[in-house]
Amino acid sequence: MTGGAGFLGSHLCERLLEDNHEVLCLDNYFTGNKNNILHLIGNPRFELMRHDVTFPLYVEVDEIYNLACPASPIHYQHDPVQTTKTSVHGAINMLGLAKRVGAKILQASTSEVYGDPSVHPQPETYWGNVNPIGVRSCYDEGKRCAETLFFDYHRQHQLRIKVMRIFNTYGPRMHPQDGRVVSNFIVQALKNDPITIYGDGTQTRSFCYVDDLIEGMIRLMNSSDQITGPMNIGNPTEFTIKQLAELVIKITGSNSEIALLELPSDDPKQRRPDISLAEQALDWEPSIQLREGIARTIEYFKGTIT
Ligand code: NAD
Ligand code: UDP
Repeated sequence: MTGGAGFLGSHLCERLLEDNHEVLCLDNYFTGNKNNILHLIGNPRFELMRHDVTFPLYVEVDEIYNLACPASPIHYQHDPVQTTKTSVHGAINMLGLAKRVGAKILQASTSEVYGDPSVHPQPETYWGNVNPIGVRSCYDEGKRCAETLFFDYHRQHQLRIKVMRIFNTYGPRMHPQDGRVVSNFIVQALKNDPITIYGDGTQTRSFCYVDDLIEGMIRLMNSSDQITGPMNIGNPTEFTIKQLAELVIKITGSNSEIALLELPSDDPKQRRPDISLAEQALDWEPSIQLREGIARTIEYFKGTIT
């Protein structure tokens, strides 16, 4: 697994070990953290390796989960050239590894491939509305190019691929300073700081709890070779950012006020996955509602804030 010390990666490591797999966890610790996987170190089936996916890797594995890439706008815009390299060179290196050892490979792609969508909700057949030269492009176009590489390796070299389009996911071990909306609002509420809504808060997102997401990811990896994706995995229940702020304030019992700030450029106005394909091909649908998932995430953040 690449990006195994990150938010999603650490949950996936944990789950694969529970399922009795041997896990090689690779990370350059750009946004990930050893604390996320500290509890796994010492397990004889778990191996940790510092490695940057923009460089080739020579190991022997049966399956590759390619998660390495900063995922929050603050982090991926910090060094945009490196972000594109991580997605594109990272995909080339991991696909090359998959080809050499005959491994099955899953790509953690993203709903950002749909950009600011004009089709709603987004089915996998929608080609997207992405600005190729904006501040989010290093991430969006990097991920789009990675998808291209996956399908070309599949067509040209018959690689067994799985392309998963992940929609906004949240839960314990999100980076508290990653600037993503769920972590920001929870940290702000717990500190009674102003809740920073960008724009007027009418933009929408659909939030998936991490355990549901990991279940979908494993089902996709284990699906038959004919199922390549791209496949949306996310929670189709849509909320406005204002509703999310109100929910976080309510559950935390915070005294925070709401502060309206400027909307960042290219911020998508709406996002909701059409998950009919995952329902039908994987018999998967999310089971954890926002209220419950947010409550669990708040409990986690309470333990991290001093
Ligand atoms: P994260 O930032 O917590 O994890 C990414 C991990 O990749 C980190 O541990 C980081 O150190 C590592 N990494 C970054 N560049 C690397 C490199 N060059 N070499 C090796 N490791 C590197 O983010 P996350 O939320 O866990 O996201 C994991 C994957 O899922 C990413 O590919 C992301 O694009 C995708 N995704 C996540 C979401 C979400 O809502 N969390 C949504 C869509 C897609
Ligand atoms: N957002 C917000 N306040 C914050 C952080 C984010 O209003 O403190 C908004 C952001 O502008 C976007 C939405 O919440 O409309 C989701 O942002 P995030 O960065 O979590 O994910 P993405 O935009 O990549 O879906």
